[in-house]
Amino acid sequence: MNYLPIFIEIQQKPCLVVGGGDIALRKINLLLKAGAIITCISKDFCSGITDLGKQKRIICIKKAFEISDINSQILIVSATNINTLNAQISKIAKAKNIPVNVVDSPDLCSFVMPSIVDRSPIVIAISSAGKAPILARLIRAKLESTIPHAYGKLAQIAGDFREQVKAKFSNLTERRYFWEKIFSSVVAEKVFAGKIDEAKADLQAQLDSSNESEMGEVYLVGGGPGDPDLLTFKALRLMQQADVILYDRLVSSEVMELVRRDAELIYVGKERDNHSVPQDGINQLLVDLAKQGKRVCRLKGGDPFIFGRGGEEIETLAENSVPFQVVPGITAASGCSTYSGIPLTHRDYSQSCRFVTGHLKDGSMNLPWNELALEQQTIVFYMALKGASHLSEQLISHGMREDMPVALVEKGTTPQHKVYVTTLSQLGDLVEKTEIHAPTLMIVGEVVKLREKLNWFENRA
Ligand code: SAH
Repeated sequence: MNYLPIFIEIQQKPCLVVGGGDIALRKINLLLKAGAIITCISKDFCSGITDLGKQKRIICIKKAFEISDINSQILIVSATNINTLNAQISKIAKAKNIPVNVVDSPDLCSFVMPSIVDRSPIVIAISSAGKAPILARLIRAKLESTIPHAYGKLAQIAGDFREQVKAKFSNLTERRYFWEKIFSSVVAEKVFAGKIDEAKADLQAQLDSSNESEMGEVYLVGGGPGDPDLLTFKALRLMQQADVILYDRLVSSEVMELVRRDAELIYVGKERDNHSVPQDGINQLLVDLAKQGKRVCRLKGGDPFIFGRGGEEIETLAENSVPFQVVPGITAASGCSTYSGIPLTHRDYSQSCRFVTGHLKDGSMNLPWNELALEQQTIVFYMALKGASHLSEQLISHGMREDMPVALVEKGTTPQHKVYVTTLSQLGDLVEKTEIHAPTLMIVGEVVKLREKLNWFENRA
């Protein structure tokens, strides 16, 4: 971060603006909105500034800037078109530790003025640290169009009820839970529709009927194969409202960046990892946390119901009457094949597709080989890296062609996405001689050949 974003209270405090043109006027208007007492010094004033002076909303002094003008000011904006004067003002202000902003000269500033989305009391400030102001403005325009104006009103009403809510819920987590419920409830809808009195009555009713220490909830969320853009809206929403996140190694760091900033993060590793929490432990932990009233997001790679043991986790929840929701995610087969330019089915090459695990519960690989070694189908093997050579031997001995194309997709959809293409007979050799890292997905079938034409992700500009 180049700057620390803070909001300064300047109500009824003296602020100085040097310069009398349109740019100075824009800054004055902003400072006025925040309630400052403004003195504007310049040899000439534009009509807008002159008007504000006549209306006694600011103090206009027609003169050249002098060092003593800075005395007792708490904030200074220099908006003159004389570079040496701007530099002088910046130097003096900095020497006196008074925050100074020189318009369009980031080097001379000790603070910058961000782009603003104003839904007072909610204010969003956007800064590019002077690197890309137009981009900051575009972001602002996006936010302007997506955040209803009534959010300001909603925040105001919340402020009115704040003390009551504090008195009712002694615990911070419960207060947060209450407010999050309110902000996504009919109360918010009524504020947006302009029905303020009804909204207040609803809020009061919900407050009166709320109990402390309610049971929490578990969200079993599919985090997809790695690229955060592949998350669903629902996944993102629940990741951002959970109090606790339980995650494992398959969840990419980019996806983890999107969980609620102050959520408690619990790493539960992976089965084969020595430091991991065993599956029974995870199941029980989910139950315990929910019973403490927490909203728990169990974040899993890919889809929780595809080789994710998600079923086992929520079975325990169901047995303990803990409410839960399941959010599907893009499974590795889908993400990896798409980003590798390999359609899983194709009218000419493959009319069906099977998802198979290369790692069985007892460690063996006792698969229905006869059903797998067929033409015109695609087989996607999850967790198959270790058993790759055994797998290729079995498929060949059950009649699959030795030259059947195979793709290994390493860390699919992430910035480290890498694809190895080989044939069934060469597979063991490739895995032995190359350092291929987990997670890796294996795709077997004629469709792998289509990648030569369709490999969009690695070939993109
Ligand atoms: N529930 C997950 C799968 C868990 S099993 C899903 O739906 O995707 C773990 C296996 O998934 C790994 O051994 C690997 O074969 C595969 N996998 C998961 N993410 C992957 C990725 N980004 N790239 C390649 N393979 C992946």
